[in-house]
Amino acid sequence: MQDALTLLSTVFGYPAFRGEQEDIVNHVAAGGNALVLMPTGGGKSLCYQIPALMRSGMALVVSPLIALMQDQVGALTELGVAAACLNSATSPEDARDIARRAKSGELDLLYVAPERLLTPRFLSFLDSVPLALVAIDEAHCVSHWGHDFRPEYQQLGRLVERFPGVPRIALTATADQQTRADILHYLQLGDARVFLSSFDRPNLFYQVLEKHNAKKQVLSFIQSEHPGASGIVYCLSRKRVEEMAEWLVDNGIHALPYHAGLGHEVRERNQREFIREESVVMVATLAFGMGIDKPDVRFVAHVDMPKSPENFYQESGRAGRDGLPATSWMCYGLNDVVQLSGMIQNSDMADLQKQVELNKLDAMLAFCETPGCRRQHILGFFGETSQPCGHCDNCLNPPVLYDATVPVQKMLSCIYRVGQRFAASHVVDVLMGKTTPLVESTGHFGLKTFGVGKEFNQRQWRSVIRQLVARKLIEVDLARGQSLVLTESCRPLLKGEEQIFLRPLAAEKPSIRQTTDRWLRTEREERLWQALRRWRKGRADEHNVPAYAVCSDKTLRELVERRPENARELTRIYGLGELKLARYGNDLLALLQENREEG
Ligand code: ADP
Ligand code: ZN
Repeated sequence: MQDALTLLSTVFGYPAFRGEQEDIVNHVAAGGNALVLMPTGGGKSLCYQIPALMRSGMALVVSPLIALMQDQVGALTELGVAAACLNSATSPEDARDIARRAKSGELDLLYVAPERLLTPRFLSFLDSVPLALVAIDEAHCVSHWGHDFRPEYQQLGRLVERFPGVPRIALTATADQQTRADILHYLQLGDARVFLSSFDRPNLFYQVLEKHNAKKQVLSFIQSEHPGASGIVYCLSRKRVEEMAEWLVDNGIHALPYHAGLGHEVRERNQREFIREESVVMVATLAFGMGIDKPDVRFVAHVDMPKSPENFYQESGRAGRDGLPATSWMCYGLNDVVQLSGMIQNSDMADLQKQVELNKLDAMLAFCETPGCRRQHILGFFGETSQPCGHCDNCLNPPVLYDATVPVQKMLSCIYRVGQRFAASHVVDVLMGKTTPLVESTGHFGLKTFGVGKEFNQRQWRSVIRQLVARKLIEVDLARGQSLVLTESCRPLLKGEEQIFLRPLAAEKPSIRQTTDRWLRTEREERLWQALRRWRKGRADEHNVPAYAVCSDKTLRELVERRPENARELTRIYGLGELKLARYGNDLLALLQENREEG
């Protein structure tokens, strides 16, 4: 058996394992079962790809999305690993050829969709192929609790009886307890060793802003922080996706829409383009992204508030898989909360489930409003305790809480005086002393609280309202036109028995940190970088694979920074394994040489 570290460096071109990878690889290679919980970008694929090469026989990889199997196989083929995939898009001739290669022992890895795997025909075909292991990727699909439930996944437990003695490894980036229990149960992994990594993503920078003009805000974020980069912009509805994509395109950004209302073909095409190109911004509903393992997504922007911290974490996690700096950006407002809770309350969920969802929404709002470290807060949801990270928006720009007792009293008493029957906008108008038609028709200009709140502008008042909702001092009554109502707990405040401190509006410009990674120092470096990218695009098109399968940004970056002059120096560059060195080594050295001569 070849040892794990040698394979890591000769095949993949990486110098060392990360985190628990080595333990996992050795455990599975020795025939053990495993459940691997690792955040997105943690490096789950190697955990089964290396044991697949170490053990004799073929590894079977169950993966839920066919569009992405192809890219995985493409990337492995680029590394010289014999891999193939079988799914509904495979032609009968190709399928026969794959079957032949599998039977003759030529294939190291075969990717297959669960529904295909479970057909009697495929199972009996597998009887004639010695198996090295079975890997079940995106294993959370087995759980009803998760966001990507797939009924076929629950049948995968049957593989135990069918292939006793073949090690099984289930992998997921979903961390909650319930999902974990479901995976162990349905996949019959009771005896599996569980490898739980920290869910921290140190290269992700978190920034959360109050929404006032989402389109302009997100555009200015992209232009100033990540111009020309790949990214995802998440919106709550199809209509928003359409409008946002159009707006970005009108402003010179290569944006594409993605939502369930688009035809299957359009979606496939846009997804491919996003994966293959280096600077596409995908504007999508939350449905987009599971299993997208594009490593160089530089930002994920939520222009509407996600419905739970888990969703937020999963979606944000699609940025920065390559370990280079990336941003999770969000803007949110009170309307998001109102809209999302409306959606939950009008859904056909059981009451208990509705309450669970509403609690998650509360937790999400609390995350948005926290004056503390974002990372610490989000890790807390997964039961992890940590120290303030020092590089999220709140750590870099700690909000200085102010004594809001008096303005809050004004707000609460205004809500009371308008009879707890009016929405936020009207309450704010009354406080600010505006004579709108509604103020005139209700006679609210005569109230004691009319015009007493001129110290704040509208955005500041809305921020106060959100924080009061987040602290459950007031509620939004959806059944009665989104009226603001007081809760029991605001009594001591109204009576003047308690003080309250709130966070001010967040700084609009993050100012302190440069999320853009300005690492190119000289014009010559810039030229070399561009030349390498052009070269990579050419090879990617030739081989019909995404650019990152030829080599990652990190590889190109090391080439620019270290400028190797000969084959020996080239072998030390990140991500260049034996096949890539043999295939591209001369090209790269020639490019580097040219760049030196140009001076
Ligand atoms: P996950 O499936 O957990 O989201 P991947 O398996 O796609 O993550 O790995 C994320 C990125 O990290 C990939 O580009 C992969 O090649 C790279 N990677 C994984 N393990 C290592 C390692 N030990 N050294 C260097 N790069 C690694
Ligand atoms: Zn922090």
